[in-house]
Amino acid sequence: APIIVWFRRDLRVVDNPALSEAAQRGQPIIPLYILEEDAPRPLGGAARWWLHHSLKALCRELTGMGSKLILRRGRASDVLLCLARESGARTVLWNRRYDRMETGKDCKITSALVSEGIQVESFTGSLLFDPRTVRNRNGQPFRIFTPFWRCCLTLPDPPRPLPRPRELMTHADMASDALADWRLPPEKPDWSGGIATAWTPGEDAAGARLADFLEDGLCCYAQRRDHPDQDATSRLSPHLAFGEISPRQVWYAARTAGCHPTESFLRELGWREFCHHTLYHAPDLASQPQRGEFQNFPWATDEAAWQAFTHGRTGYPIVDAGMRALWETGWLHNRLRMIVASFLVKDLLIPWQRGEAWFWDTLVDADPASNAGGWQWVAGCGLDAAPYFRIFNPVLQGEKFDPHGRYIRRWIPELGGLPDNVIHRPWEASAEVLAKAGLRLGKDYPTPIVEHGAARLRALAAYERMKNSA
Ligand code: FAD
Repeated sequence: APIIVWFRRDLRVVDNPALSEAAQRGQPIIPLYILEEDAPRPLGGAARWWLHHSLKALCRELTGMGSKLILRRGRASDVLLCLARESGARTVLWNRRYDRMETGKDCKITSALVSEGIQVESFTGSLLFDPRTVRNRNGQPFRIFTPFWRCCLTLPDPPRPLPRPRELMTHADMASDALADWRLPPEKPDWSGGIATAWTPGEDAAGARLADFLEDGLCCYAQRRDHPDQDATSRLSPHLAFGEISPRQVWYAARTAGCHPTESFLRELGWREFCHHTLYHAPDLASQPQRGEFQNFPWATDEAAWQAFTHGRTGYPIVDAGMRALWETGWLHNRLRMIVASFLVKDLLIPWQRGEAWFWDTLVDADPASNAGGWQWVAGCGLDAAPYFRIFNPVLQGEKFDPHGRYIRRWIPELGGLPDNVIHRPWEASAEVLAKAGLRLGKDYPTPIVEHGAARLRALAAYERMKNSA
């Protein structure tokens, strides 16, 4: 009988434990992807674009191995039962996901399949360490990153990545949806041009990006990773989010890449683990603050400010450059994510959940664990978060991490003629400098929608009010 291999967020053939296991058994394989109509959270727009192209790449890859990816949509348990009946499959294999909403669903799917006499086996493929096994001395999950990561590093190394299966025995052709009929990419309007220019989804592209990073980026990662103008990070996040490459592949490749120091880079993979482990233990991470006192935070409603923020028109160049880059390319450098998130929740007092939802829709790497974890970190309501009262000054952040304004000039061309000393604070430029730069402040580019000093005091007062109401 054939074996169904259900692909989820593991759209790769190398280091895919479920696929490798199926290949080893020497039975025909039916690779399957389900567009789950009962997914706990529908994918955002940018992620739908990525999924389309990633599935296309996986289809090509499997076809090259003599197999065929079957595409179906519906409730996962219905689709699996139906395909098992049609094909006579008695076994379904998949790699585990750890989001509690998903694991709850997977348990139900398993029961439905088992009750029909179909065997289910699951494997570890998307994390370095299993969230069920990393515990502190009291047997509890870690709440703070540093001891969490220290503990992970004392555990046995994760298993080495599995090679691409040599051969996949094919099963007779099964009916499949056409990918185009799923209409995943945006149509009217099609806003994906900038994303398509910036990215190539798929396993091959992920491998090439990793190889480039190991050759050019890893050596100076620790020194340069915070500088958005230097293109110094790996940009593997969407490939990791869709499982086009596994964290184990990245981990081992970095560790064996030569004599470069790797701790700082591996530590970021550690943050990814920490966010996923946190989500495993706190399934409502995207909506509920982990620190209960933040339930009472006096947030503001300011629709005009929200519009200015999402359109990159706040008057703070580093914030606007980030928001425009996000919209255009579907990705944002980590430093920019922190700066814009801080501006939204502290300077504008807009709830972090709104920012999380915007990122969810616009990021190609939108990930339920890292996105919610990142927002809670910035908003000060995560377990291991930046203290709320530490408020980023968007001008100083810009001057520190983009000292020559290269990032600003790239994303806000109307500011391109300003000299370095005012590019992060155009409202301080003299009339003469503005005229020379051809910039009409308030027309070509807005004046700040809030004054940072006053906004900072307002945020601190809101924080005090929250503490007093606890
Ligand atoms: P590198 O610096 O090259 O790091 C390598 C890998 O480590 C990344 O690909 C990523 O998988 C992981 N990583 C790095 N930094 C972090 C971090 N702080 N937290 C968790 N994992 C990390 N990351 C996402 O993958 N998806 C998201 O939806 C997401 N939303 C975020 C929202 C906010 C508000 C913040 C502050 C951070 C968010 N991050 C998210 C984390 C981080 O910004 C991105 O992972 C990183 O910028 C991706 O770039 P890179 O691949 O070049 O990272």
